[in-house]
Amino acid sequence: MKNVLLVFLITFYLTAQNQTKLSYYLPNQTDYDQSIPTPESVIGHQVGEWHVTHDKLLFYMQELAESSNRISIETRGYTFEDRPLLLLTITSPKNHQNLESIRKAHIEATENNTTDTEGRPIVVYQGFSIHGNEPSGSNAAMLAAYHLAASTNEEVKTLLENTVILFDPSLNPDGLQRFAYWANTNRSKNLNTDPSDREFNEVWPGGRTNHYWFDMNRDWLPVQLPESRARIKTFHKWLPNILTDHHEMGTNATFFFQPGIPSRTHPLTPKMNQELTKEIGNYHAKAFDKIGSLYYTEESFDDFYYGKGSTFPDINGSIGILFEQASSRGHVQESDNGLLTFPFSIRNQLTAALSTLEAALNMKTDILEYQHNFYKNARNEASAEKNKAIIFGDAKDASKTYHLAEILKRHNIKFHELKEDLKLSGKTYKKGFSYIVPKNQKNTRLINAMFEKRTAFQDSLFYDVSAWTLPLAFGLDYSENASIANAGNAVEDLKLKDGKVSRKSNYAYLMEWHDYYAPKALSTILNKGLRAKVGMKKFTIGGKDYDYGTVMIPAKNQNLTPEEIYSFLQKTAEESHVDFDAVGTGLTSQGIDLGSNQFRSLEQPKVAMLVGSGIRSYDAGEMWHLFDQRYDMNLTKIDVSNLQRSDLSRYNTIIIPSGSPDTSAVKQLKSWVKAGGQIIGYRNAINWLKRHKFIDLKTKKIERTAKDVSFEQRRNYGGAQVIGGAIFKAEIDRSHPINFGYKNDIIAIFRNTTIYLQPDKQSYNNPIQYTKNPLLSGYISKSNLDSLASTVPFKTKRMERGKVTVFTDNTNFRAFWYGTNKLLMNAVFFREEF
Ligand SMILES: [Zn+2]
Repeated sequence: MKNVLLVFLITFYLTAQNQTKLSYYLPNQTDYDQSIPTPESVIGHQVGEWHVTHDKLLFYMQELAESSNRISIETRGYTFEDRPLLLLTITSPKNHQNLESIRKAHIEATENNTTDTEGRPIVVYQGFSIHGNEPSGSNAAMLAAYHLAASTNEEVKTLLENTVILFDPSLNPDGLQRFAYWANTNRSKNLNTDPSDREFNEVWPGGRTNHYWFDMNRDWLPVQLPESRARIKTFHKWLPNILTDHHEMGTNATFFFQPGIPSRTHPLTPKMNQELTKEIGNYHAKAFDKIGSLYYTEESFDDFYYGKGSTFPDINGSIGILFEQASSRGHVQESDNGLLTFPFSIRNQLTAALSTLEAALNMKTDILEYQHNFYKNARNEASAEKNKAIIFGDAKDASKTYHLAEILKRHNIKFHELKEDLKLSGKTYKKGFSYIVPKNQKNTRLINAMFEKRTAFQDSLFYDVSAWTLPLAFGLDYSENASIANAGNAVEDLKLKDGKVSRKSNYAYLMEWHDYYAPKALSTILNKGLRAKVGMKKFTIGGKDYDYGTVMIPAKNQNLTPEEIYSFLQKTAEESHVDFDAVGTGLTSQGIDLGSNQFRSLEQPKVAMLVGSGIRSYDAGEMWHLFDQRYDMNLTKIDVSNLQRSDLSRYNTIIIPSGSPDTSAVKQLKSWVKAGGQIIGYRNAINWLKRHKFIDLKTKKIERTAKDVSFEQRRNYGGAQVIGGAIFKAEIDRSHPINFGYKNDIIAIFRNTTIYLQPDKQSYNNPIQYTKNPLLSGYISKSNLDSLASTVPFKTKRMERGKVTVFTDNTNFRAFWYGTNKLLMNAVFFREEF
């Protein structure tokens, strides 16, 4: 019977499908200006009939802006694939004429103790489909923009007179384009609803992420990627009152709008934020009741990590709202709620976009006042700490320091140079290598959210990471006990330090390994065919102390003349922001001489990485981005399905990101290792390497028995044992090549796995070891913390002439964990030395 009904429904649907009309989507009783182009008239099909590509979306938005005096359009930047990052500003023609003064008044209200909410428009930022394979948002964006441009209804006119809409139709153009290609190329003429059809099952890595496979909805706080950089600039320029983020979730779900689970709201977010979110939710509920769509609220998702689009606004006096629509993934799919059509999911997104605007208009005074008070209260908090400041830096690494300062700059946070070198709590802060951040400034709450360490929590479940303390992520020295008395000039024009060569040498050049970009410089040197060596021990020459891992480039017996080497290194210094010291003698005053056999010849790294089925694309993308964007190094991405056919002799290192590579080329890989190759396995790849006998490892197993945990509580009990992402302290042996370039004996490591490796009996085989009480920031259960204590996150073992190296933790997390990027580079460059 069910099947008969289904067949009937499908037949009915398939007839109805080709007749989806514009009126299906748009609110009733509205007339439309005929001079404004409909989406169909530009993209060539009705919305929802095909998945819109970003190219067509762009074209429509440009046409719409061209024809409507309610819309202006700008390109704020480009994605990695050079797609424009669009912003439409939608408001009344009159407001358009005064836009800059409206913006100024809006910002002023966050900076003064008096405000006039009368006559000031509310500012709403609407963003769509940050996950490219959650496309109903971006497809609905065309309809929402059309409706706002073309409706002749008085209500819409009133709305636009009182609202400035910052409209971001595609938060992830590269991902949207990739997914549209997938869904469209697999669409059948007779729409297939079978969830097993290829249409609903993307190939690796899917369209969720951006070009380098990053989840764009984790980058709002660290702002490392071009898409985030453009939108964060708009955010701070306007400080919108509401920001909405339209997503999709599982096909069998309904529709979700925030608030999320109340106990999982970040404690720095004001209570009033959640109350207003709830009140706005009433408008969504009413609108969904009207069209008969199911929905829910408060039972899932959270507002904890400020790197997410719906949470970031909450620490900036704004109200972030997450929408999640059940995904049809393709054009129509069977679900627990009957046939789920793409047009239906688009209509729900449109409905939520319009109910947001209705709420904004009706709650305008309350929401404007909320933002005003948020900043007034923040000012009071800040002035109570008016002499206090945070200091951060690394006396040996100006680049890492620069990149944290760059984040502050992107978030309109003010900071200063040091007046002079400073010693604080046993650390030296050098002028030019450190910055001072006064607590008494507008974005003081955001500063707290970036720098705080937190180890106590109301809830033990997290949708994402529970810690992101930025100076720990960057591996920088820092203190919250500095004073503004230490501050020199405010930094207006932040620049990466210039690298230089001290002078021309006919003997040798030395480059210390501490700077973040030292690997980029070394790679350039080795690629040029120059010989370079690494010092295994410390030494002193010309009155300067050189640490472990200093790189020496001899001036003689090279394929370039000393003159050519000098000018080549000058260019390298400039491009990689590192210094080269010229030396005229090999005789040191302390430690090894330059001709010592403790200087080891380096070979050019030739690195491949396994990608594809079984591999976690995020981890792989982070490494691809690191090599390609940061270090200008080649990294060959070998799909596991091609591994058997690949000539592995071209590589000396193969990286296996977290996962379990779906390959039968185990024998081939093993003989490559035995012949001298190095495998670097990350996180869950460790289990694969163990299973296939690449490496023998002792892991700690935890047995857990639930006591007094009810059936209803079982999920929370299990979830509390997950390490969603927290920061831990490890001690390092700086004489081991894996740790070259680190100046402290302690490093902070990001962890989101529960793999615990037992330390070796021989202490020198444990160059990185978690301390006895390693928690620095974030949530971990007591039993996990006990298990983690004194284990090791790094191991390396020989296999005949080659070796297998493993990391239990992600040292390249989301492009902002600068602090541990060097561990991977050390494993790549110095593989022969450990
Ligand atoms: Zn999503």
